[in-house]
Amino acid sequence: MSVESVFPQLEPLLPRVSKPVQYVGGELNSTVKDWDTTTVRWALMYPDAYEVGLPNQGVMILYEVLNELADVLAERTYAVWPDLEALMREHGVPQFTVDGHRPVGAFDLLGVSFSTELGYTNLLGALDLAGIPLHAADRTEDHPIVLAGGHAAFNPEPIADFVDAAVLGDGEEAVLEITDLVRAWKQEGRPGGRDEILTRLAETGGVYVPRFYDVTYTGAALDPVVPNRDRVPATVAKRTTMDLDAWPYPKKPLVPLAESVHERMSVEIFRGCTRGCRFCQAGMITRPVRERSIQGIGDMVHKGLEASGFEEVGLLSLSSADHSEIAEITKGLADRYEGTNTGLSLPSTRVDAFNIDLANELSRNGRRSGLTFAPEGGSERIRRVINKTVSEADLIRTVSAAYANGWRQVKLYFMCGLPTETDDDVLQIAAMAQEVIRAGRKASGRKDIRCTISIGGFVPKPHTPFQWAPQCDPDTVDARLRKLRDAVNSDRGIGRNIGMRYHDGKPSLVEGLLSRGDRRVGRVIERVWREGGRFDGWSEHFSYERWIEAAANELEPLGVSLDWFTTRERTEDEVLPWDHLDSGLDKQWLWDDWQDALSEQELDDCRWTPCFDCGVCPSMGTDIEIGPTGRKLLPLTPV
Ligand code: SF4
Repeated sequence: MSVESVFPQLEPLLPRVSKPVQYVGGELNSTVKDWDTTTVRWALMYPDAYEVGLPNQGVMILYEVLNELADVLAERTYAVWPDLEALMREHGVPQFTVDGHRPVGAFDLLGVSFSTELGYTNLLGALDLAGIPLHAADRTEDHPIVLAGGHAAFNPEPIADFVDAAVLGDGEEAVLEITDLVRAWKQEGRPGGRDEILTRLAETGGVYVPRFYDVTYTGAALDPVVPNRDRVPATVAKRTTMDLDAWPYPKKPLVPLAESVHERMSVEIFRGCTRGCRFCQAGMITRPVRERSIQGIGDMVHKGLEASGFEEVGLLSLSSADHSEIAEITKGLADRYEGTNTGLSLPSTRVDAFNIDLANELSRNGRRSGLTFAPEGGSERIRRVINKTVSEADLIRTVSAAYANGWRQVKLYFMCGLPTETDDDVLQIAAMAQEVIRAGRKASGRKDIRCTISIGGFVPKPHTPFQWAPQCDPDTVDARLRKLRDAVNSDRGIGRNIGMRYHDGKPSLVEGLLSRGDRRVGRVIERVWREGGRFDGWSEHFSYERWIEAAANELEPLGVSLDWFTTRERTEDEVLPWDHLDSGLDKQWLWDDWQDALSEQELDDCRWTPCFDCGVCPSMGTDIEIGPTGRKLLPLTPV
């Protein structure tokens, strides 16, 4: 049955809301397919505002992969701002896609990509606006299957009541397999209804359907989570796409209509990271390292620029300077685009993988505006704890060379609230920044150089060695940051060249609850949403008090609390809510690495050393995939 666009009802509301252009769709490289001639229809959601959601690579890739299939349709939907939400409720306009402005409730599947847990209240908002029951148990065959993906899906227990399923790991191949199963089930006349299609998805071993797993407690503690039916595996494994060159997406990047967080095209140059930073969930859950080839990258840059007209290319990964052929890649691209408006950037680089030759190649067509590094910890001691093996001498050498080569601005990222951290570890951030300015003045012979330090609150994450760690309470984090600010300003002659940016510790505690929570935390999320919680990643919308009150009201009658989920240290024998979700990492290896952290022992990168048995490659049937290929960029198209 045909589905009508809701645009005629939406359009009169748009002059009354902020940034109406974000709701109209029609971006360059977007697609609207015919509803009636397609069999499987996906709505893909990024649960944040358009300006954050549109550049999201995960959604962009799946959108294109799915729309390439003739009988499949995929459209995008984002969280609507509270001003439009109020008008949509008043006028009965449902959650819609920005492509065909079709009601999200009419699709077969709603795939939601969570980069952060702070998007959970926006999921509930979208479900409710779409007319989809909040609780998966209340849905019928007429409602979409709600699937969670993204990094937060590695512990979907806090949203287990609201999603039908979760997919761990890479999505490219997973969405095709899910599409095949849904297509076959629909063509067979939907035998067994919703229960049967969810069972078929769960049977693959790579789709987690929470309702098929019983969750019980002994006192406050979680019992092992076990399946409650035969056809369902005891553990659910993550997906890993091995040959990135076979998946050169996005081929035609979406070009935003409204201002967005990234006004550039991104090309993912490799996936995974084995540096082993113990705080880094992204690095742990995306192992092993899989590099895209030089030719593959060169081709994607060429075709993507041609299709989009962007003037900047970000070479994306978790630590881009770590690509084994990064020098050839940047030189090849800088040669190819010499004298044009096309600029290159490496959005994330490590101090120890960076050098000035690389920086010079990157800035050949652009301004030497700023360099960004993430030492993460202020003292050598805390950097050993977190396994961020970069020395202060390395950093000073690198930034001195940068200032000597014409850069005027260096940004340094740190975390506060790390396991075992003391005031002194944090105060050493000030000493490091002051040393950077002194060394920079000496190297450049100028006084007007700047260093900005940016500090975020640490949140222990599932599937990392810090999953057992007590989270630092916000009062301690805030007190340390105040002391740090005083230390930075203690030497006025240098302090005025140092900028300091930080957030208070409270949102991190809520993120901690949502990251390491179990199914009991779902009640808190629902209460916060019902009491007006929206856009929790935005300081102007986030209410700490609302979360604290909801946690007290919902958790304490169950014998647990906000502290129980956050500032409490876990024991080795404790069942963790994600133990039945397999990231490939061996739990004993993670525990041993946690013990190594406490005794300040570092661990090497397995890319360049023999395997140290984290468990991923044998359990997932994967391997590290790195160069050198010994080949150069092809084709070296003159521009
Ligand atoms: S199994 Fe070995 S080679 Fe593979 S990611 Fe883990 S440590 Fe590295």
